[in-house]
Amino acid sequence: MPTVPAAPVQILEAQSTVLGEGMPIARALPSRHRRMVGAWCFLDHFGPVDVAQGSGMRVGPHPHIGLQTVTWLVEGEVLHRDSLGTVQRIRPGQLNLMTAGRGISHSEESPQQRPARLHGAQLWIALPASRRDCEPAFQHLPELPRLRHQGLTLSVLAGEFLGERSPADVHTPLLGLELLADSATQATLALRGDFEHAVMMLEHEAVLDGQALAPGRLLVLPAGRDSLQLRTDGAARCLLLGGEPFAESMRMWWNFVARTPEELRKASEDWNAQADYFGRVRGYDGPWLRAPLPPG
Ligand code: MN
Repeated sequence: MPTVPAAPVQILEAQSTVLGEGMPIARALPSRHRRMVGAWCFLDHFGPVDVAQGSGMRVGPHPHIGLQTVTWLVEGEVLHRDSLGTVQRIRPGQLNLMTAGRGISHSEESPQQRPARLHGAQLWIALPASRRDCEPAFQHLPELPRLRHQGLTLSVLAGEFLGERSPADVHTPLLGLELLADSATQATLALRGDFEHAVMMLEHEAVLDGQALAPGRLLVLPAGRDSLQLRTDGAARCLLLGGEPFAESMRMWWNFVARTPEELRKASEDWNAQADYFGRVRGYDGPWLRAPLPPG
């Protein structure tokens, strides 16, 4: 049998940006070199940042279509409001999963009473064509399946790992896992060969299949691997994200995921005209965010 050369491992440099009034962000996806890993299409690592002074996180009402947003905190608290009437505070170890479907709007802010530091991840999952026009929904999971594995504490955010399944409602075969080491650790994680995977460091450093990885970089592993070796010299925290390669066409503009440029333009224009299908966010003390129009 001729051997097929394995697709190369990629290390992507996250792009540094600033959200709202001074929230530092490292955006690993989308990148010039890679658009998606499974259905994961947007990976932002925010903070750690001191929010004791000033107004902290302030992201005014804005819309989404065609995707799910995942909020995961390492430190701090965020208050979510959406057009379904949800008002939900999230803390570390909890998951907020918002399904935009045909249209939703939401805001995110630091609550007035809050811990001094804010640190976490905001991730998007593209919806498949069969679900992109679904009714919008919001799920707050105060607890997730958690297990110990070779010295690691694993939290299952999405999908299933070692027989533990997340109650998060996702619509393509996916994995979202937080790996936490309290001290120097060496572990082997079983991977699904039909998934591609990425590792996003949240705290400190680790060596993954021989590659050193620190926050601000994303390790991408092509499909066809059945395990991942992880080694740390001390405490470390990262996300392991995976999924079946997303075979459908997918386009992103601003806060929208769709199939065609026309759909993206229509969503931008509809939001700026405050079309009913995006609903209204109540109770956020500030203006809604206007959509930039896509080129062309
Ligand atoms: Mn959003």
